[in-house]
Amino acid sequence: MIDEQQQEARERRLQDIKSRAHGHWTSILRALGIDEQILNGKNQPCPLFSECGAPRRPAGGKMTNVDRFQYTDKFGEGNYHCRHCGTGGGLKLAQGVLGIPFPELLDRIERQLGCGNLPSMMASSPSPERMKRLCQRIWQEAKPIVLGDEVDRYLRNRGIVLEKGELLFEGPAEDAVKKLGYDLDEDEDE
Ligand SMILES: [Zn+2]
Repeated sequence: MIDEQQQEARERRLQDIKSRAHGHWTSILRALGIDEQILNGKNQPCPLFSECGAPRRPAGGKMTNVDRFQYTDKFGEGNYHCRHCGTGGGLKLAQGVLGIPFPELLDRIERQLGCGNLPSMMASSPSPERMKRLCQRIWQEAKPIVLGDEVDRYLRNRGIVLEKGELLFEGPAEDAVKKLGYDLDEDEDE
């Protein structure tokens, strides 16, 4: 039971790190001390020496591990592929290159994520909370429709009549909404 809970907590932590790190792996790996050379996107010797071995030339043979590795960050997960030891993401790459225990690696990545030195972090799209607050503000700033005002005239032109402070319209509400040019199918939040 305790094992299960620990397992679950570990899994949650890992998922949290992965989702927060998504799209930022190149800067994270750089900050962890991974050589810029490894991250340059070019074919090169695989840096995961425990899997692939360092580049070397066996006596009288051909050089091994010359250009089998490429860092691509293809899916925003710090992705790489190696023609010999396979594919992986930032976590595996960092662990393989730095050779540190996994828990220590997680600690270090969390510190990276927490200390805000990833410039574009979370700046791209507004959070759901922000959108909700914005909607609430718009709603609160809205004024009631008054008979004969601009909005009333606009609605009247579309066959929706304001009477005793209430909107009257013929037929189902859906029709009235459609008359206003809104597409009901599009947003079905909450
Ligand atoms: Zn490899």
